[in-house]
Amino acid sequence: MTLSFSPTIPFVDLTWQHAPLQEALQAVMAAVLTQGDFVLGQALTEFEANFATACGTGFGVGVGCGTDAIALGLMACGIGPGDEVILPANTFVATLIGVLRTGATPVLVDCDRATALLDLAVAERAITPRTRALVPVHLYGQLVSPQGLLELANRHGLIIFEDAAQAHLAQRDGYTAGSIGLGAAFSFYPSKNLGALGDGGMVVTTNAQVAERARSLRNYGATRKYYHTDPQGTNSRLDTLQAAVLNVKLPHLTGWNQTRSAIAQHYDRRLAPLAEHGLLPLHNAAGPGHVYHLYVVRVTPTCPIGRTELQAQLTAAGVQTGIHYPIPCHLQPAFSSLGYPPGRFPVAEALSQEILSLPMYPGLTPEQVDDVVDAMVEAVTGRQVAGVLREVMG
Ligand SMILES: *Cc1c(COP(=O)(O)O)cnc(C)c1O
Repeated sequence: MTLSFSPTIPFVDLTWQHAPLQEALQAVMAAVLTQGDFVLGQALTEFEANFATACGTGFGVGVGCGTDAIALGLMACGIGPGDEVILPANTFVATLIGVLRTGATPVLVDCDRATALLDLAVAERAITPRTRALVPVHLYGQLVSPQGLLELANRHGLIIFEDAAQAHLAQRDGYTAGSIGLGAAFSFYPSKNLGALGDGGMVVTTNAQVAERARSLRNYGATRKYYHTDPQGTNSRLDTLQAAVLNVKLPHLTGWNQTRSAIAQHYDRRLAPLAEHGLLPLHNAAGPGHVYHLYVVRVTPTCPIGRTELQAQLTAAGVQTGIHYPIPCHLQPAFSSLGYPPGRFPVAEALSQEILSLPMYPGLTPEQVDDVVDAMVEAVTGRQVAGVLREVMG
């Protein structure tokens, strides 16, 4: 029998979250089973109110997933064919899919190299007389500058609709994710900062009419039973069962986000010496309000080891990593008809080759973070210094 020196550190782990909540989760699921209100039930109404309150928006409309929240939320804001919608090229494809489903024309723009967030100066240059909406993505848990967004939107009379799928309760300059724009979309995919036990999503808005329209859109376009007024209506409701689960988890979200932030600071501190070797964490411009859905570093061209090799060495050392995302939206085969050639978004394209996501979840222990960093130091500097020193010095 061999003893493994370093334990395997998975990229995603949810047991830390579910083990302590198991009894509470089973109780609320049993209650839904007894009550039988599986669709548009009581727990959904409660969770919509609770989550909207947490976001500082008046209204929440639970839908089937984050992608539907983007599509239905934009439609509820009046976005449709003939409208141009500006969004970043480096995001999860769901942002683009959601925009396309409204029938509007997506206009992709490049991002800022340090934060990987939508570059507002580039976005401004993409505005035309047909531009109706900005869809900023609060990527990795960091808000795009609320002040910058609002100034840009106000200057040009645009709607802001936030893709907040990675930014539950993220804050910046006094704003909370989802409360900057006319509306916002959240995802409750299991590994998000707040996750269901399956798919789920929500549109939040400060506007009663937008909420009303979203409610109709998710429910076959009906404004009352068997009376259908909206031809774009579909069937996309957040299950009562999932809402009940999310109600149990929501009170823990702030604490989980704080733990993510503390883990990020630990990574920042320990990875700082690798900056001179070209390994740079993405810049946090939001301060303590960054909720670190992901912790992402850049393996820049000056780094003595390439990203592929670094990732392979980490895997060999028992550390799982990810890439979010390896191919920017405009270079995905599905969207070639949009007509953006390679080289069109140089920053997004360069970042897609440099970024590496390290393990990040509240169940990660400080020792595991040290193990991840030790493996990185070893891979980048080619020396086995960090771990040995810690062993020796205790
Ligand atoms: C997860 C995610 C979505 C899509 O949410 P689903 O619930 O998976 O449909 C959209 N945008 C971003 C940025 C995401 O991370």
